[in-house]
Amino acid sequence: MNKKAKVLVIFTAIIIALFAAVAVLGPLVVFNIPEIGLTTLSNAVYVSVLVVLASLATVLIFMISREISNETGSLNENYYNLGKRISFYNLDTFTKAVAKTYKKKASQSYVISYSPIKTDIIYESVQADQVRLMHGLIADEFIKYFSTSEMIKAKPAYCFDKDSFFIYFTGDDGLLTKITKDFDSMTFELAKQNDIRLFVQPYFGIFKGSKEVSVFQAIEKASAARKSGEAKYASVMFYDEKKDTANSFDNELQEILNALKNDEFEVYYQPKFNLSFKTFVGLEALVRWNSPKHGLVSPSKFIDFAENSNLIHELDIYILDKVCKDIADWKRRGKKIIPVSVNFSVFELFLPTFIKDIEDTIEKYGVNPMLIEAEVTETVRFNIASSLYIQSVLRKIREMGIKILLDDFGSHASSFNTLKELPIDIIKIDKSLIDGISVDYKSKEIVKAIISMAKTMNLGIIAEGVDKDEQVKILQDSKCDAIQGYYYSKPIPKKELEKFLSTNPFESKEVL
Ligand code: C2E
Ligand code: CA
Ligand code: CA
Repeated sequence: MNKKAKVLVIFTAIIIALFAAVAVLGPLVVFNIPEIGLTTLSNAVYVSVLVVLASLATVLIFMISREISNETGSLNENYYNLGKRISFYNLDTFTKAVAKTYKKKASQSYVISYSPIKTDIIYESVQADQVRLMHGLIADEFIKYFSTSEMIKAKPAYCFDKDSFFIYFTGDDGLLTKITKDFDSMTFELAKQNDIRLFVQPYFGIFKGSKEVSVFQAIEKASAARKSGEAKYASVMFYDEKKDTANSFDNELQEILNALKNDEFEVYYQPKFNLSFKTFVGLEALVRWNSPKHGLVSPSKFIDFAENSNLIHELDIYILDKVCKDIADWKRRGKKIIPVSVNFSVFELFLPTFIKDIEDTIEKYGVNPMLIEAEVTETVRFNIASSLYIQSVLRKIREMGIKILLDDFGSHASSFNTLKELPIDIIKIDKSLIDGISVDYKSKEIVKAIISMAKTMNLGIIAEGVDKDEQVKILQDSKCDAIQGYYYSKPIPKKELEKFLSTNPFESKEVL
């Protein structure tokens, strides 16, 4: 209880005591002791005194309760802002604290907006505890990190606001690099040590101070830089006036949400051809947006936006739903059915409903789970911190009978690490590697090595983005299992696919 509340309580106690005294003694004084001359006091005065005292006590009690509720309110807010930790500011006090130094040393000032996880994902309540834990761990680390004598020279200040941290310091680009690098590895390390089951990925938005920009604006610009980084999975982003697109973002999401409601998304299928069996052995489901406003929109235009919210999961389940519906339809019409792979983003795996949503959708149409495959792309730096959790989710998916395909293999530096960590059934070699196989021997040797590695590890292997005769020959010679690419077919709508599968020149018609 604060000082003001305590004073109010004492004062209220006095008033209540007075009330009691007047109530009890009043009648004695007024009615029973006529010799002291108070008999002329009317009952009305007696009642008025009581009413005044009672009102005063009520007002005081109201003031105390307001004081106490204010206090818990600010406690919660402080807790949320991590302000209970010594030297941790909230955004308001942070702005004030750095204002003076910033004014003097604007050109040597840096404001970093930092978050250890993607902030625009709406975390479920079960994950909220993990989010809070992660923020708390980092806050403690901040205090340690900035209390060294080396750091104190840089006049550091930091705060937490809603979902991200702000760091202020003076120095040069060298110190900036050091801080971002240290926090980058610290984020992963903390997540690993504490078994954090979130999509851990540090993002830094940086604004280098200048005289023309106020502290307040500097903070906003650092925040805008971080958000633009998150949208592109770029870990470190400097504020760029020209690319300040933070505002258009919400509209994009709203448009996608409306498109989902209005059923504007369609599935296109791209067949996968098995080189030994000379037949199509699978299909990849690829989303297309039939927008009345923009026309047919390619996924590269909106997947990134959808990936910055849980919308990507809604979209992918929506696509899975359409795929299952189509499979059920092919079954009903007695058509030949081959497995269909659906794309999922890695951080969808962290949604608590991920497995159940897949299960429910497949069950809804009574589809055999063996006909469904999941393509998982390593869209960002894979981190070991989250690998145990991803492993367990993928295992459960596999137990259902769904194969796991590692998409875009070879397009990320850490592809081999991913392969080592995750339960994968099939590798898809990225188009960027395939592009080179007919022109440079290095690409060819790399692809050959990947194919032979997959065989040794008992994994299936598919080459994607194949569009030339020569590439097919090389892949055939290298004993690649299957090929997907324009060479056989572009992604096409269901009706066209049915026609393609019965009339294409690549497989013998008896098989169908
Ligand atoms: P991806 O999963 O790597 O899909 C393959 C992309 O390469 C497709 O582009 C496909 O049309 C294209 N492609 C296939 N063969 C060739 C070829 O021979 N030459 C060339 N130039 N391109 C070829 P698309 O459909 O535009 O999809 C782009 C990316 O968008 C996909 O890359 C995938 O990451 C994402 N995506 C598409 N549909 C979905 C979806 O339903 N959910 C999610 N999460 N992501 C999706
Ligand atoms: Ca894919
Ligand atoms: Ca791919």
